[in-house]
Amino acid sequence: MPVNPRRIRALRKESHDSHASQSSGPVIYWMSRDQRVRDNWALLYAGELARKRGCPLAVAFCLAPGFLGATEVQYRFMLQGLSEVADDLSARNIPFILLRGDPREEISRLIEEQDACALVCDFSPLRDSLECKSHVAQIIEIAFYEVDAHNIIPCWLASQKQEWAAYSFRPKVHRLLFEFLEEFPALPENGAEKNAADDLAESSPKAFKEDGSAAIDWQEALDWPAAEEMPDAKLIAPGERAAFRQLDHFLKQGLAGYDKDRNDPNISGQSALSSYLHFGQISAQRVALEAARSGIDAGAFLEELVVRRELSDNYCYYNQHYDDVQGFPAWALRSLDEHSGDRREYLYSLPELEKAATHDDLWNAAQQEMLKSGKMHGYLRMYWAKKILEWTATPAAAQAAAIYLNDRYELDGRDPNGYAGIAWSIGGLHDRAWKERAIYGKVRYMSYSGAKRKFDVQAYIDRWSP
Ligand SMILES: Cc1cc2nc3c(=O)[nH]c(=O)nc-3n(C[C@H](O)[C@H](O)[C@H](O)COP(=O)(O)OP(=O)(O)OC[C@H]3O[C@@H](n4cnc5c(N)ncnc54)[C@H](O)[C@@H]3O)c2cc1C
Repeated sequence: MPVNPRRIRALRKESHDSHASQSSGPVIYWMSRDQRVRDNWALLYAGELARKRGCPLAVAFCLAPGFLGATEVQYRFMLQGLSEVADDLSARNIPFILLRGDPREEISRLIEEQDACALVCDFSPLRDSLECKSHVAQIIEIAFYEVDAHNIIPCWLASQKQEWAAYSFRPKVHRLLFEFLEEFPALPENGAEKNAADDLAESSPKAFKEDGSAAIDWQEALDWPAAEEMPDAKLIAPGERAAFRQLDHFLKQGLAGYDKDRNDPNISGQSALSSYLHFGQISAQRVALEAARSGIDAGAFLEELVVRRELSDNYCYYNQHYDDVQGFPAWALRSLDEHSGDRREYLYSLPELEKAATHDDLWNAAQQEMLKSGKMHGYLRMYWAKKILEWTATPAAAQAAAIYLNDRYELDGRDPNGYAGIAWSIGGLHDRAWKERAIYGKVRYMSYSGAKRKFDVQAYIDRWSP
């Protein structure tokens, strides 16, 4: 079954006078956001193109240093996942090429070196990624296609404009799910083109050593702080296999109680899939298909996984101010501005916030949960960001601090969900106006006493306080 052509768009058409049509080199899938072999529309399309052209398929990934403030913790999680990708591709005789440096230069150099005939990439709505692909599209001569392998409905099709809120986005999504929430075909291995693929594997830089460790000195090469500077984080296991184990566990143990338990940070009531989804180690479409087939009422979960998650991509794609206050809705920006002179009872610096050194033991415990596990509970993320608004001089400073901490310490950070979640908490994005109060203006407020009514706050503090 061919990939639905509506998932694909051309970033660069092949020029008739280019030598690409005579090229004997591979179709290259430039893997970026979707770091998996199973259930990957971009990889499937690249394979389809390679078969049509009778040439081999290769996959390249470019490690860029200092990506949005990510630390060694996130790189390690990602690299271990990529090592599985390399193995799974190798089992299908598909070479995996690990590049390092600026993707704009590395990808175009690879295309030239390998005499590639076409390039396929996956999709991200984030600025750096869009700019990088647009740059590559301008300097290469071969056909270049983008496939949204992250969203169930391609972001540019789900809606052609920034949506106000879930209520305006939901009907559009539901209409298109019928077409796009389909089963994935299997990925065939490199077949008749095997010899060419072998040659390519021989000539390409080795990604991993025999024991699975990265064959490059990534710690030194990438611009991140030394490991000992990082908190002693106890992280979930990385990779595609671990992601499927977690999905299986959630479907059996968590989905039935999701609606009731997800807002209690003392219960593992959420799916804990966000880090796998962020790195593309599992496909949201696979998760949605399995949840829908489980025979359990998955409505509340699918609302988060599909509508809310894809709404975040919609926000980042259509609003270039997704990470500054200009991205907030006008009513919220005006209201926050009117309260900019309100007295702040507490003012904390970024290092004080980072060290979880505020007067609020619940906030400190949430910050500690993030530092120690790489994942703060979803309910507390809202409280955490709103309190930063209360304790910093301006909404812009609050947003910048929240983004810095979220991107640096959450395994699932540097994600559209993070930028949208922070803009929701601090700037009323996708929300409505609430009763006016100091500092927050009409932006929704959350309180310690409100949290106490929802769950056992003391048990949570006892669990996460040092
Ligand atoms: C201030 C703030 C910061 C956030 N930062 C991030 C972030 O950096 N990365 C991230 O993935 N999510 C972020 N979220 C959204 C949400 O809190 C997390 O996705 C969720 O807690 C992850 O846990 P889970 O996978 O167990 O979620 P589940 O409740 O099991 O949900 C399943 C999936 O649905 C999606 N989802 C759930 N809630 C939301 C939501 N509110 N908005 C959009 N998608 C959602 C996620 O992909 C999630 O993995 C943030 C929310 C807030 C308020």
